[in-house]
Amino acid sequence: MTTSRRDFIKFVVAGSVIAGCPLDEALLAMPPATKTEMDGERFDLCHQVRDGHQFQRPGVSKRHDIIVVGGGVSGLTAAYLLQNHNFLLLEKETHWGGNAYLEQFQGQAFATGTAFDFKGSAGDELAREIGLTLLPINGADPTIVNGAWVEDTWRKGLNHLPYPASVRKSFMKFRTAIQAIDVRKRHDELDSEAFSKYTVAYAPEIQQWWDTYGPSNWGARTKDSSALVCIDALQGLSSDKADTRVTLPGGLGAITRQLAEILLPKHRDRMYDDATVIAVEPQKGEVHVTYSRKGQTETVAAKAVIMATPKFITKRIVGGLPAAQRAAMSKLRYAPYPVVNLIFDKPVYNEAYDTWVPGKSFTDMIVADWVVRNQPGYRQKHNILTCYTPLAETQRARLLTELGCRDLAATVLRDFQGLMPKFNVEPVEVHIYRRGHPMFVATPGTFTRTIPAARVPMERIFFANTDSQGPESLTAGAIIAARRGVEWFKKLLAR
Ligand SMILES: Cc1cc2nc3c(=O)[nH]c(=O)nc-3n(C[C@H](O)[C@H](O)[C@H](O)COP(=O)(O)OP(=O)(O)OC[C@H]3O[C@@H](n4cnc5c(N)ncnc54)[C@H](O)[C@@H]3O)c2cc1C
Repeated sequence: MTTSRRDFIKFVVAGSVIAGCPLDEALLAMPPATKTEMDGERFDLCHQVRDGHQFQRPGVSKRHDIIVVGGGVSGLTAAYLLQNHNFLLLEKETHWGGNAYLEQFQGQAFATGTAFDFKGSAGDELAREIGLTLLPINGADPTIVNGAWVEDTWRKGLNHLPYPASVRKSFMKFRTAIQAIDVRKRHDELDSEAFSKYTVAYAPEIQQWWDTYGPSNWGARTKDSSALVCIDALQGLSSDKADTRVTLPGGLGAITRQLAEILLPKHRDRMYDDATVIAVEPQKGEVHVTYSRKGQTETVAAKAVIMATPKFITKRIVGGLPAAQRAAMSKLRYAPYPVVNLIFDKPVYNEAYDTWVPGKSFTDMIVADWVVRNQPGYRQKHNILTCYTPLAETQRARLLTELGCRDLAATVLRDFQGLMPKFNVEPVEVHIYRRGHPMFVATPGTFTRTIPAARVPMERIFFANTDSQGPESLTAGAIIAARRGVEWFKKLLAR
């Protein structure tokens, strides 16, 4: 694509780098440019927290039974379960949902992050409880590589990969070896190993495929990934069991939207968005929470607090953390992870739900309305493709400038258009949703050692968020962690 053609496409940059909390302030210059919309920059306070700024702590103005910090799926679930208590939910952004957040283009939903869950999971169950039915995906993942579209990659697809026969054979031997591993028996041992130990003896194209799949799903390439997480994933991808994935248009952001729609009419006065928590201090018999909202700083008190924020933020605002627990929180790593949505006004690609593209600037692309495409009367107005574009931690600064985001989105578009001749179509809009630290990275030991040490409940402060669960960053994990936080609170009350 030439620069002049690119100039006619509207780029929309959204999302918060809050994420951004532990970023170098010197990187924050953001020159505005034309033809790009920007939205949602709320990291000033976070940076002050990072820099150890001593905020004024006003006296307690209000008391609640419990305060939930963070309005992602974990915090919203906690609030949903705490409706019979006098709760307060505080969220930094001006919208609810955190990483499980959907946006719309002319009424059509698309994901800015979380895509699907599994039938019977905690996410599927919660969805049903709040009146949503997640729909079956019923498909197998293809790969596009060297210009070839290979159906059902890890089953019949291995015979059709556009590589020399020796490489295809290596893929098959690798699959057989991985299938033979007893994950249950070797659970802890596998989590302490890097997956590269298992790929090194095989064709490098195998590692290239996992250097695509890993960053998309758990933020890490093969050499940094827990072998447990990868082996479990490949055993699922290559098993002969039916696909159990479920979702809705726009992904699991549909769940947080529904939670917010249920909670807000009844509890609006106890749900503050645009409210950044800057300190959580245990006191005798209660906890004090100081937050900033609309330029005002307030301190509120509660019998207990559920921290549904990611640990890189939690460790900076919770006082009195034991040193070992703070060290465990500091060990968790987070991947920068923008998502680029390509919006076409005609069908361009509808052949599979999730398609893998090794060796490109994005890892995979999802058809936004896949699960409703065959419903009677449904007509696709726009073909929206969600391109997952995880970055290496060293590339985080690319998201800080509007130019960096626009460039990234243009590269994704160019890579997409070059995948196959029929993809060389201009989109009507390109949206990039940037997030600086949205996904904790499933490195060796994160699941079995670091997370259990990081989530130990304090006397009155309990830790939710998906990074209290694992093995990888999952909506279901965020919900399980919220339920556990609520149980701890109920035990505290019963004491
Ligand atoms: C690109 C991408 C794709 C994904 N795909 C999938 C998928 O297909 N399936 C799946 O199950 N999972 C997926 N995930 C993971 C899933 O999105 C997360 O596990 C889940 O959304 C985490 O929810 P959470 O509530 O634990 O955390 P978060 O979503 O991080 O929510 C934390 C909230 O706390 C708020 N906050 C932070 N600091 C403060 C503060 N100081 N004061 C007040 N509020 C604060 C944040 O703004 C945020 O809203 C994906 C993630 C990403 C990034």
